[in-house]
Amino acid sequence: QRMPLVVGNWKMNLNHREATYFLQKLAWLLRDAHFDYKECEIAILPPFTSIRSVQVLVEADRLNINYGAQTVSVTAQGAFTGDVSADMLSSLGCKYVLVGHSERRRYYADDDANLVDQVRAVLTAGMTPILCVGEGYEERREGIELDYAVGQVDDITRDISEEDAQKMIIAYEPVWAIGTGLVATPQSAEDAAQAIRTHLTRVYSKETANKVRILYGGSVTASNATLLMNEARNMDGFLVGGASLEPEEFATIIRLAS
Ligand code: 13P
Repeated sequence: QRMPLVVGNWKMNLNHREATYFLQKLAWLLRDAHFDYKECEIAILPPFTSIRSVQVLVEADRLNINYGAQTVSVTAQGAFTGDVSADMLSSLGCKYVLVGHSERRRYYADDDANLVDQVRAVLTAGMTPILCVGEGYEERREGIELDYAVGQVDDITRDISEEDAQKMIIAYEPVWAIGTGLVATPQSAEDAAQAIRTHLTRVYSKETANKVRILYGGSVTASNATLLMNEARNMDGFLVGGASLEPEEFATIIRLAS
């Protein structure tokens, strides 16, 4: 049985002071609701500069909240101005790293070779990559969305072993749904999850396909989370952007997913 997972991708929001406030409030809300942490895993992905504040609070209050980063360098160390290495992140207690978010693919030209190296860097440092895939508006219009998303998964899986693939998480995030308020229907989220599992079965095995958690992302809110969770049975949770910036709404989504 796969444990549901709700991940908050803060993108370039919440500085280290705001992050501290957010976390205190989230912890309070979850405690107040007598939320059973064992039923759903929670993770937040702050900007690099807020990770240390999150770590300090999580450790001091023993919060059952995981955290991670939104991207990572493919190199281990050295003269790479502006980069942050996987070891730097794991030494801050990071558990997850997003790889291939559509905003990174678009604005920073993260390509497949680079993304495979990121996946390797994350795994080598003992963390879990969350691989983001998903079609744009054009591919959906042409009706090739599933092939496109599965193709993006294949670009990575063709270069990594089954053992490594079992450690990954895949987030299906259709680009047209990100930040637009246009959420995918539960049926199309389910279709994508099934297509990805079929792919994992084909290239690896049924066991691996059953092990890998698949998340849905793109305009997830407290109002649409229940329907998605109940009807997209092959989805194991959410990758939340905008709605992860408000502790109340994020806490509600976590409760709905568990
Ligand atoms: P929104 O939830 O704001 O649409 O963003 C989704 C996303 O990109 C999460 O990674």
